[in-house]
Amino acid sequence: MRTWKWMFTAALLVSVSAAAQQPSESQPSAQPNAAVVTAAPVSSDATPASAQTADGQPASAAQPQGSQSGTAPAPTPSTQPAPTTMDQVVDRFIEREHGLMKALSNRTPVVETYLQDLTADPQLGPVPSGDHYFLGRMDMGVSVDRKDYLKDQDKGVGMQGMETRLLGGFHKLYKVQYEPTGFSWMVYADRTEFDRSHYEFHYIRREFLGDVRCLVFDVTPKKNAKSGKGGRFLGRIWVEDQDFNIVRLNGTYAPAPRNSYFFHMDSWRLNLIPGYWVPAYIYSEEGDFSAGVKNKLAFKAQTRIWGYDLKKGDKDDELTQIRVDSVKDETATTQDASPLQAEREWQQQAEDNVIERLTRAGLLAPEGDVDHILQTVVNNLEVTNNIDLPRPVRTRVLLTAPLETFSVGNTIIISRGLIDVLPDEASLAAVLSHELAHIVLGHNLGSKYAFNDRMLFSDDSTYNNLGFKHIPEEETAADKKAIELLNNSPYAQKLDNVGLFLKALQARAPQLSALLTTHLGNPLAENGTIDRLKDLEGKGPALDNNKLDQVAALPLGGRVKINPWDDKAEMVKTAPVAITSARDKMPFEVTPFYPRLARIGSSTAPSAAPATAAANSNSGN
Ligand SMILES: [Zn+2]
Repeated sequence: MRTWKWMFTAALLVSVSAAAQQPSESQPSAQPNAAVVTAAPVSSDATPASAQTADGQPASAAQPQGSQSGTAPAPTPSTQPAPTTMDQVVDRFIEREHGLMKALSNRTPVVETYLQDLTADPQLGPVPSGDHYFLGRMDMGVSVDRKDYLKDQDKGVGMQGMETRLLGGFHKLYKVQYEPTGFSWMVYADRTEFDRSHYEFHYIRREFLGDVRCLVFDVTPKKNAKSGKGGRFLGRIWVEDQDFNIVRLNGTYAPAPRNSYFFHMDSWRLNLIPGYWVPAYIYSEEGDFSAGVKNKLAFKAQTRIWGYDLKKGDKDDELTQIRVDSVKDETATTQDASPLQAEREWQQQAEDNVIERLTRAGLLAPEGDVDHILQTVVNNLEVTNNIDLPRPVRTRVLLTAPLETFSVGNTIIISRGLIDVLPDEASLAAVLSHELAHIVLGHNLGSKYAFNDRMLFSDDSTYNNLGFKHIPEEETAADKKAIELLNNSPYAQKLDNVGLFLKALQARAPQLSALLTTHLGNPLAENGTIDRLKDLEGKGPALDNNKLDQVAALPLGGRVKINPWDDKAEMVKTAPVAITSARDKMPFEVTPFYPRLARIGSSTAPSAAPATAAANSNSGN
């Protein structure tokens, strides 16, 4: 019992039944959002906090009203006269905040949190000592609910490690294992009581965030306003000066429950639909590495939200969406298909089914700009190797962070996280060449998905129903072929960079098992050892942190940005920033978000670039 080190009550879906179990001292709050870390040892009277979480379930059962049409909510007409006093501004943004909650209440976006535990390294500063990964769908209705995409075994170090460490393995009290919303609670400041009777608002100054002029306010809970277990928002908000929407929230919740404290968060919104700024990025960080600090909790985490425009994805919805495969125009073909043609048609159908299904689950970006870059690289490999396939090779971006590639039929899929950390085009070519090799060698796995019944599953069980892992023999053969392809290609002279990247990955692999846990394809590393293209690992110079011009791998988030509304992926454009110390390199690390805010329709598209120095060095695109 007292073996717990930490208690983590991630998503407090506070319900009446939960409230009944509350110790009298803690007034339950209707505020459903709270992420609390409770310092050890947890006394037994702190237990109800997690019991409350466990029992908070019913609150989330209510489905929000209205059907999701797949279109943006209608913008609210901004016919109101412009506020002339700060008091009027406050009234306006309070009203807009409630309007946003209403507008998004029938949405179920994808929420991804990638977290790195930190430890102090004398040379590199705080470095990852372990990592955790969460992926699910969040119900933006009255209570925050979340369905998890990860299988139990996938959670491995990710979920269960988190529970075990932060909860001392006390699973029974912890239903939130499928609702790790703790990191996404700052999508709103206060879901139910964001108003003047509960908060003081103090105007600070005007400030530009990107292209958007903002009014900055400090927000503090009123002394007499009763504070629940969930705490009250305490921090700063940025309000754009046209429609007075909140575009950024930075702070924490207060007061902290006994033996506990709340995460600090920095939450950003993007103007993706007219009239609204939609929660997109949340950065969380805890940790103090100054001398003599006793509190050892230290982590940094990026939470990304996307897929606002996805269909709800519950079972009923799935069944109404049975897709009759589009009938192809057969006018050009007057004959029946030959056996080989039939086989290819079959594979094409499987490929199309899988791509369509992954896109609908919010896991795959629609075809777009990034694919052009990926396809150029694939073409370079094909042309120089005289590869002539009956069907063209296509590429798509998996929207998630874990480093992963796989192929289904003739489509190569590569994760956003992997594109982010690759230092140059040669490294991109290397990871793509492995999948191209599978295609060239005819290692096709997906044909069973030509049966449409195999596409009928709920979005959150995607990982249970799809899988594209090859047997070890095919992996070895693909690696061998890949190196052959690379050696014939324009990238042959740059394989040193690939070797360096693999060394950097190997150096961090034991600490980054969640980032290296794949969900659909073969992992790049198994048990902390790099498997993929390991013959290239010997190439290139030794890894040297002190060499500032040696950029072996980039931080996460530096290359690909996702439009949270329609899931489109595009390349980030960032200005080069000089690396001035080894600590600037941050290979495979998460960093704060610092998107350049812009109004929808303005020339500067919404974008997010991490506050990182290394993202641009050696850029290969
Ligand atoms: Zn493979």
